[in-house]
Amino acid sequence: MVPPEGGLEAKVRRVFPRQYKYEAAAIVAMIDDSIRVLAGDCTVITDGPDREEFRGRVTTVVKPDNTVLVHDVDGYQPVAWLTRADSVSSSGNGDFSLVAKKDGRTLRVAAHDQDGFVQYQASRAGSPVGECPDCGGSLVCTTGDVSCVDCSNRYSLPTDATVREERCSCGLPRMRVERGLAFDVCIDRACESLDDAVREAFDREWRCPNCGGDLRILRRGGLIAGCENYPECDTGFVIPDGVVDGECGCGLPTFETASGRRCLDATCARLVEPTAPPDP
Ligand SMILES: [Zn+2]
Ligand SMILES: [Zn+2]
Ligand SMILES: [Zn+2]
Ligand SMILES: [Zn+2]
Repeated sequence: MVPPEGGLEAKVRRVFPRQYKYEAAAIVAMIDDSIRVLAGDCTVITDGPDREEFRGRVTTVVKPDNTVLVHDVDGYQPVAWLTRADSVSSSGNGDFSLVAKKDGRTLRVAAHDQDGFVQYQASRAGSPVGECPDCGGSLVCTTGDVSCVDCSNRYSLPTDATVREERCSCGLPRMRVERGLAFDVCIDRACESLDDAVREAFDREWRCPNCGGDLRILRRGGLIAGCENYPECDTGFVIPDGVVDGECGCGLPTFETASGRRCLDATCARLVEPTAPPDP
């Protein structure tokens, strides 16, 4: 986004002359992560395959992904909305108006009597998993991600990771990830590396079924076990999300995963279920 000429404050003053005095404090630097709220007596017009017009004292919420929701007093459903609009523009000469457009549809909100237009900094909401060691804010966990509510600290997690109660010495929570074994490592890769832990456990542990070379633990996007004789031998297997529970008929390890038991080689045809002990 190109910064507006004269800076953000000047733009705010220009676009919202009446509100500037009250709202400057609410306009924060992380403007892309903010939720805008417009409340008042408004006319709401939706144009597209069919046209509708409403008027009422409503509250319009504009989310950072340009989703626009217009709520009235009834029920949980918005009276009008446009999800992830291609554009949202607003003007504030006297009374405020907002226009959102997507795929030939237009949503307009024009305020006749404006109760307020504010912009609030917003973050993701997730399950609380502890305190940020840098700022003391709450750390929250969403799928594949732990982030701080108050600062820009953010840690991406493997999607199958579970965050633990246990803390690392750096103050961050640890996560459990299954890659052959269950590993408990810090959610910050720079602090404790999952790759190093997997390498320590399994590097050169398994033999290449094609040439007999050692399989090395490498990161190629995901973690793989790849033949040491690359490029002469290009055998390599993505390490499954699961725990090693035995050996396959092909000699490679088998993994207990959420979707069942499998060979390290996902295409292996020699996987046999462990034989039940013989009947007495
Ligand atoms: Zn923080
Ligand atoms: Zn740590
Ligand atoms: Zn090989
Ligand atoms: Zn196999």
